[in-house]
Amino acid sequence: MNTNNRKVVLVGTGFVGMSYAYAMLNQNTCDELVLVDIDKKRAEGEAMDLNHGLAFSGSHMKIYAGSYEDCTDANIMVISAGVAQKPGETRLDLLQRNTAVFKSIVEPVVASGFSGIFLIATNPVDIMAHITLTLSGFPSQRVIGTGTALDTARLRYMLGEYFHVDPRNVHAYVMGEHGDSEFVPWSQALVATKPVLDLCSEAGGKFSCDGMTKIGDEVKNAAQKIIEAKKSTYYGIGMAMVRITKAILSNENSVLTVSTLLRGEYGCDNVYAGVPSIVNQNGIESVITLSLTDEELKKFQDSCNILKNAYSGIQFN
Ligand code: NAD
Repeated sequence: MNTNNRKVVLVGTGFVGMSYAYAMLNQNTCDELVLVDIDKKRAEGEAMDLNHGLAFSGSHMKIYAGSYEDCTDANIMVISAGVAQKPGETRLDLLQRNTAVFKSIVEPVVASGFSGIFLIATNPVDIMAHITLTLSGFPSQRVIGTGTALDTARLRYMLGEYFHVDPRNVHAYVMGEHGDSEFVPWSQALVATKPVLDLCSEAGGKFSCDGMTKIGDEVKNAAQKIIEAKKSTYYGIGMAMVRITKAILSNENSVLTVSTLLRGEYGCDNVYAGVPSIVNQNGIESVITLSLTDEELKKFQDSCNILKNAYSGIQFN
């Protein structure tokens, strides 16, 4: 990886894409940021707007609207482009239309000679990451979905509030589909090195397992609640994407719940799902297989089966 000029190409300069770009600029995460959108004028306007903030950012980032030819020497290709669900449209119809969108993006990117890492945010993110893998022919290590990274951040924030602890000292994950079948393996949730289930049983009623269940539900329903209030969610996911980008560009070996291709882990094969994984300049270095209880393992496998079924319905021609 060329770390002298850390270059990122972003496709899809909508709410999510531009929240990412704005956070990239403010966190000075790369040296060159290229914005691509089917609406070229929009990408140009967004590049102008960000450039006008450069003087206040302490960054020398080069930002411009470009094309797929700019991917040749890019380190990371981020995709947050997509079409929205039409009234009456099924989930599979939407998937089929987003497959066509991804075909129009991934094929010219690969043709450019791009040899970096794909980072996918478009929903349904686990399936769109799998589609990118198929369309690109890349090794799965270099095709990453944002997975349950945002859900995990929401969980740590809510547990931090509940236990009155800095979320950075909360170690807990949301696993599986980024969607309805996601779940929290509570047996693996810790505050510092103390299991939250022990904290609940020892708290004399101050903390409880019911409280954990409520938090798990709130995490799952968070996106819907935000959408009801302001139509869509974008700041949190934009920052989650920056976090993953940093782990790649700085070769951090960070553990993040990204969506990756499972090959036998947790008894699941050939399916993309959110699992704690080590992320570095190679993309997914490895998956950390947690010691789930039988009940948690069943929830994870059920979630993977839902994803597998949805993926198997997609036509690629
Ligand atoms: P948006 O409609 O604001 O932006 C989508 C952009 O994609 C638009 O600018 C559009 O012009 C562009 N686009 C469409 N077709 C294209 C093509 N063929 N080539 C290039 N660009 C194209 O939507 P948004 O709010 O930014 O959301 C983007 C995606 O992110 C959605 O799929 C949304 O569900 C998803 N999302 C994911 C998460 C997550 O946790 N992974 C969270 C929130 C949103």
